[in-house]
Amino acid sequence: MNKHQVLKQYFGYDEFRDGQETLIDSILSGRDTLGIMPTGAGKSLCFQIPALMMDGITLVISPLISLMKDQVEALNQAGVHAAYLNSSLTASQYYRALAYAREGRYPIIYVAPERLVTEEFLDFARNTKISMVAIDEAHCVSQWGQDFRPSYLKIVEFIERMEVRPVVSAFTATATKEVRDDISDILMLREPTVLTTGFDRPNLYFGVQAPKDKYETMKNFLELHPGQSGVIYCLTRKNVEEVCEKLRADGFSVTRYHAGLSDAERQKNQEDFIYDRAAIVVATNAFGMGIDKSNVRFVIHYNMPKNMESYYQEAGRAGRDGEPAECILLYGGQDVITNQLFIDNNRDNQELDAVTRAIVQERDRERLRKMTFYCFTNECLRDYILRYFGEYGENYCGNCSNCLSQFETVDVTEIAVELIGCVGSSRQRYGTNVIIDTVHGANTAKIRQYRMDENPHYAKLSKVPTYKLRQVMNYLQLKEYLGVTNDEYAIVKLTEKSKAVLEEEEPVVMKMAKEQEHPAKVKSEK
Ligand code: ADP
Ligand code: ZN
Repeated sequence: MNKHQVLKQYFGYDEFRDGQETLIDSILSGRDTLGIMPTGAGKSLCFQIPALMMDGITLVISPLISLMKDQVEALNQAGVHAAYLNSSLTASQYYRALAYAREGRYPIIYVAPERLVTEEFLDFARNTKISMVAIDEAHCVSQWGQDFRPSYLKIVEFIERMEVRPVVSAFTATATKEVRDDISDILMLREPTVLTTGFDRPNLYFGVQAPKDKYETMKNFLELHPGQSGVIYCLTRKNVEEVCEKLRADGFSVTRYHAGLSDAERQKNQEDFIYDRAAIVVATNAFGMGIDKSNVRFVIHYNMPKNMESYYQEAGRAGRDGEPAECILLYGGQDVITNQLFIDNNRDNQELDAVTRAIVQERDRERLRKMTFYCFTNECLRDYILRYFGEYGENYCGNCSNCLSQFETVDVTEIAVELIGCVGSSRQRYGTNVIIDTVHGANTAKIRQYRMDENPHYAKLSKVPTYKLRQVMNYLQLKEYLGVTNDEYAIVKLTEKSKAVLEEEEPVVMKMAKEQEHPAKVKSEK
């Protein structure tokens, strides 16, 4: 069978999604592969399909028992023989599964990382053909990620102890550069194919509010979305209990989820939500990793989470079916304080030496600051998110609360004429910063050295703040009124469209943030 037939026969889909084919082809050609895709993009198929096409066994390393169980059950239902080996099995179940594996019954085996270097597992692996090791949630290997799991370091040890090195593939939804580099380095990937698919989820609406009464605001929202499936995230178990109680009393179909409940209740509540017996689940961040429910129509953060990584991952559980869905964050000043306390008292950090702990805490505080900025920015929220993850967004998406309330259409022709004129009169020799500084009238050594203080456009727009000049400059480049050389110098160049602007034949109109205080600043709690 070829990959399209496998996709259709086992998974029932007709087409691959963005990125999937590249990753599958890379693995099948025997190359190490690193796939970075947002939650819900369809990472699992990228290793499951090659696993079914290669001879030998694929080991999938996954951090959570529940995640393994779900995936193995789904595979079994699709007619694929798969098994998991983890601490949820009794000793006799474990040995039975291993015996079946030795007989070659399973093309795919999910393994908990701490099992890998046990004697009996190594003995099995050395005497079978392991064609691939696929590492799910690969960011768990990075100390810089928030989900660091020391047991993930055993993966490298395991691979090194194999006589024939299997293909190694790794997958994560964490896009920050430190984590990406860590995955590649620590797992010792060999010249991997690295593929990042876009992190933008255009079907998600992003909104921030700082209401006086969070509960009322949320209730109004829920009343406007009757019967829809949604997740409400709270920071603490106590908050989960309170919010869940109130919603129940107000007649909503809700359940709850946090680490303080018994395993049985957690399991039951999760299933009630997944099978739509409860429309809404109120939960801490313990809920979600590995939840695959496609029709979640909204994710409300009743409290601001600790960082953008958590926020985007949790919010991203909405709209996995690609249909419109809403992600609302209800900010309150207390959320910052609660998160600060979490950072100061983080028990995971107690084992670290004092120096490392200080570094980790500083990093967490910085992340919390960036999360807080998200709640206060006037700019496009989607743009803020994408830039945080190192992607280049447009400064207006039209599908977030800021774009819909904070933006106005502004005629920037006058600014455009000066910027383009400056590029032309300095004979297209300088980068963005020099042009902006010239037009703004900066009195720096560099400007004097380049004699840009003698340029006819010097200080023509000294009253326009530089951030605004920069926005217009970005826009001009985005719309190709100006170009930029594709080298390290990034020299600004004229384009075919430049002339029309200079001669004022074509007005330049763009969306810009209104210059007013963000409501969050005015109305924040207390
Ligand atoms: P991730 O691990 O990236 O968060 P999953 O592998 O759980 O995402 O996939 C998310 C959902 O998308 C699943 O329901 C999966 O069956 C579905 N899916 C994956 N690939 C495709 C595809 N090519 N066409 C349609 N649906 C797909
Ligand atoms: Zn926007």
